Amino acid sequence: MKVCIKCKKEKDKNDFHKNSRSKDGLQIKCKDCFKEYSLKNREQIRLYNKNWRSKNRDRVNLYRRNRSKENPLYKIKTSLCSLTYLATVRPYKKSSKTFRVIGVTHKELMRHLESVNYTDVDLKGDRSKWAVDHIIPLSSADTKEELLSLCKYTNLQPLSIEDNLKKSNN
Ligand SMILES: [Zn+2]
Repeated sequence: MKVCIKCKKEKDKNDFHKNSRSKDGLQIKCKDCFKEYSLKNREQIRLYNKNWRSKNRDRVNLYRRNRSKENPLYKIKTSLCSLTYLATVRPYKKSSKTFRVIGVTHKELMRHLESVNYTDVDLKGDRSKWAVDHIIPLSSADTKEELLSLCKYTNLQPLSIEDNLKKSNN
């Protein structure tokens, strides 16, 4: 059991989302409070992120360019992310690179994402509204092998675009 910092109720551990960065591996707010927060602030977060990016376009571009020069993994990471995105959009062959990277077929991947859809993202709805989140972030990898092992379907979960941005901005 764990007490939610927001509603102060004692709840089962399953009522908290996972957070690999915290000591007990769980978020400080319960799922209900988390959901309430993201619904309330959805538009605000979206606008904030959009604003920040357009105000800092040069900085963002420069950062991306430098990152790819300094860190050879950055480029692989970017291509793995787009491959993972595409894997949720359309089927791929068992002989494809996508299959090797993800580890399962498109159908099995979607079934997996549904089974770990803790925040009730509409997986069949607008694809631009959700992202495939790497539960253990790709940024924690030091080698190409580690990167590849983090791209396996077992490390993937669906998150709304907002939650995903929040996670990567933490
Ligand atoms: Zn709560």
